[in-house]
Amino acid sequence: MTFRNVGDGNYREIREAVQALCAEFPAEYHRRIDEARAYPEEFVAALTEAGWMAALIPEKYGGSGLGLTEASVIMEEINRAGGNSGACHGQMYNMNTLVRHGSEEQRQRYLPKIASGELRLQSMGVTEPTTGTDTTKIKTMAVKKGDRYVINGQKVWISRVQHSDLMILLARTTPLDQVKKKSEGMSIFLVDLKDAIGNGLTVNPILNMVNHETNELFFDNLEIPEENLIGEEGQGFKYILTGLNAERVLIAAECIGDGYWFIEKVSDYVKERNVFGRPIGQNQGVQFPIAETYIEVEAANLMRYEACRLYDAGEPCGAQANMAKYLAAKASWEAANACLQFHGGFGFACEYDVERKFRETRLYQVAPISSNMIMSYIAEHVLGLPRSY
Ligand SMILES: Cc1cc2nc3c(=O)[nH]c(=O)nc-3n(C[C@H](O)[C@H](O)[C@H](O)COP(=O)(O)OP(=O)(O)OC[C@H]3O[C@@H](n4cnc5c(N)ncnc54)[C@H](O)[C@@H]3O)c2cc1C
Repeated sequence: MTFRNVGDGNYREIREAVQALCAEFPAEYHRRIDEARAYPEEFVAALTEAGWMAALIPEKYGGSGLGLTEASVIMEEINRAGGNSGACHGQMYNMNTLVRHGSEEQRQRYLPKIASGELRLQSMGVTEPTTGTDTTKIKTMAVKKGDRYVINGQKVWISRVQHSDLMILLARTTPLDQVKKKSEGMSIFLVDLKDAIGNGLTVNPILNMVNHETNELFFDNLEIPEENLIGEEGQGFKYILTGLNAERVLIAAECIGDGYWFIEKVSDYVKERNVFGRPIGQNQGVQFPIAETYIEVEAANLMRYEACRLYDAGEPCGAQANMAKYLAAKASWEAANACLQFHGGFGFACEYDVERKFRETRLYQVAPISSNMIMSYIAEHVLGLPRSY
């Protein structure tokens, strides 16, 4: 079954080209990768070769110079086709941090190589085990010594490190008790992972519910050259937020792709599955949860396009990016539940892919920002309610 949705008429060329590429990597491919807990190397290589991973890189550095809206369409189509953009979406939102805040020298050094696929920028190190969502309390320190920064500290849940050449790292350059505002005194750096691993950086993989390569990182006097500082020292938190808004919008689009996948899958199934002498989809008890979740995915999609529009226009979009992520993650999870429920026992069988996509989409109510934190942001920054933490 196919149905039209809010964004279907937009960006037809991109959609059709990504759909054609994804068709070469059918559900069996992603299922096999999931079962083996492997990385979809061939899929990511094909996306890179086709230029999709360089969508946000300006043309003068070898990319296609597209906006966040187009990038989000690419991610949506991957998930809608049954894949999981989590293997590669880091490159999209990390890229914007480098494009917007990197020096001309850094852009020239890295962007053409990332565009060609010679280098991957898939990782971003923010979260720490003892501070969690309370990012301004991070303890990882970068101390300037001559022409180098020396990094000490720990990060957790840092994804795709083993499949990336570069990582954007957030560290404190001024201790918290010496800054006027807690959001100051943090800086971002480009870490050359191949140089760093074994020379001050230790990577411990974390086995988790999803086939998502993520790790604990230990920094023990890791030295990085001063030219790897991105932007101005002490302003890193502000730069990271630009990337985080992009990340929220892209993940909203992925959830929307997941949502449509679940709705299509379950709608097809309930028309075919006959119990009590008629298709189960004839029962309103089955129809309504599916219809409800479709309404919610469509509504989330409208907010996603609004967030994209603002971001691409360079306008503030924190509220819209957060709301799009909140709505889309919730809607895709409801769609996942309906899809699993109405597949009955078959929903649990790996060969239907429902249980895999169910696990994959569940992540997005926790990471990269939990739904509670979004509500807190809206309460405080949009509604002007008293700050709660
Ligand atoms: C598979 C995976 C991949 C990830 N990849 C990356 C990555 O590449 N880079 C990176 O930097 N991070 C990454 N993360 C980390 C992710 O961003 C965090 O897990 C997420 O932000 C939540 O932080 P936490 O786990 O420390 O939860 P905590 O901060 O400990 O919060 C736990 C729960 O408590 C609730 N909570 C906390 N404080 C409040 C409050 N004040 N009010 C109400 N509720 C509250 C939250 O809703 C949350 O669900 C990843 C996580 C996972 C699971």
